[in-house]
Amino acid sequence: MAALLADCVEVRNTDSKKGRGLFAKSHIQKDQVIFKEAPLVSCQFAWNEFYKYTACEHCLRSLEPAEAMARRLTENPCLVLPHPECCGVRQDLIVNCPNCGMIYCSVECYQSAIEKYHKCLCIGSSRDDTDHPINKVIESWRNIHYPPESANIMLLLKMIAMVKQSDDPMPLLNDFSRFVQTTVNEEEQAIHKLLSHQEHLELMRSLVTESMYDDKVKQWFTGDGFRSMFALMGTNQQGIGSSSISVWVKNCEKLPLPGEEKQQLDQFIDQLYEDLEKVSDTFLNCEGVGLYKAQSSCNHSCAPNAEIQFLNENHTLSLVALEDIEPEQEVCISYLDACEIDRSRHTRQKILKENYLFTCNCPKCISQADDEDVTSEDEDDDDDEDMEES
Ligand SMILES: [Zn+2]
Ligand SMILES: [Zn+2]
Ligand SMILES: [Zn+2]
Repeated sequence: MAALLADCVEVRNTDSKKGRGLFAKSHIQKDQVIFKEAPLVSCQFAWNEFYKYTACEHCLRSLEPAEAMARRLTENPCLVLPHPECCGVRQDLIVNCPNCGMIYCSVECYQSAIEKYHKCLCIGSSRDDTDHPINKVIESWRNIHYPPESANIMLLLKMIAMVKQSDDPMPLLNDFSRFVQTTVNEEEQAIHKLLSHQEHLELMRSLVTESMYDDKVKQWFTGDGFRSMFALMGTNQQGIGSSSISVWVKNCEKLPLPGEEKQQLDQFIDQLYEDLEKVSDTFLNCEGVGLYKAQSSCNHSCAPNAEIQFLNENHTLSLVALEDIEPEQEVCISYLDACEIDRSRHTRQKILKENYLFTCNCPKCISQADDEDVTSEDEDDDDDEDMEES
């Protein structure tokens, strides 16, 4: 999707320890889509798929009709959504892999999957065969990584499959190598976030080797190599979410309705979200992760001037400006979620250090550097002297 990368930004080395950064080349307006980007590789979470959040295997587009999804997640089989024409799921375009039954939103997505990795990962009629080596990887992963999910070993399987299927894997390997961690210590921390027990890593390595081994990337199957690849998932992956219900809501909001009808529809939608949250809590979306080349150059700031959105309703992300950005200014997003970003500098830095392995020196953090170290009442004990070293 490089063609969609805008002329208004470029990747440059920064003067600080952050390495690369994304910089504006021309004036960018608030709300402007700076670029759109499809991932190098993406996958749905294992439990998310298991619990029937139906999404395109390739692009993660939500494929369960909005009404069916709303019925399932509110546990109300009689629920009827008004304006069914606002449901964006195109059932007439959906195709299944003729060999394994895997679902795709379109022929294009199916073909893309086949070309890139699915030839290698298609398990044909063995979908229910628990002894199939690929099924063993997926099931074992589910048994060591419970919701709320933050990774899926399938991302690694797809990366291996892409290399296997490629005639010339060098460009692909170069792309992947951009994401690799630098120090053993950082790898340890990244892995610790995904797995509670060290021996699970060895279990995964043996199962992945059994199902996918390939000479072209034999370094990925060694103890150290597998550890690096696994750590790569922990720190570089971007979360992806899609939902046919939110597409339906967005389309409803665009309907040209008379005042009273509009008000009724708004009330219906408010009530729907209340019911959804009551029954399904925060598990409302098809969810997964991906690795993105351009987005990975975008550094964090606690006062970001851009954010990631999924305007295409699939795994293609949009980088959207939150304010006007002038030439030469760095474009930054927040790696923290909406709640985390309002915490004290101390707490933010702790979360960033633990999850993304860096100490934040953004303007907001610098301006708060003289604040008391502990400013949130619900602060944990501090042992973060080591945080401040860089
Ligand atoms: Zn698709
Ligand atoms: Zn298949
Ligand atoms: Zn900061």
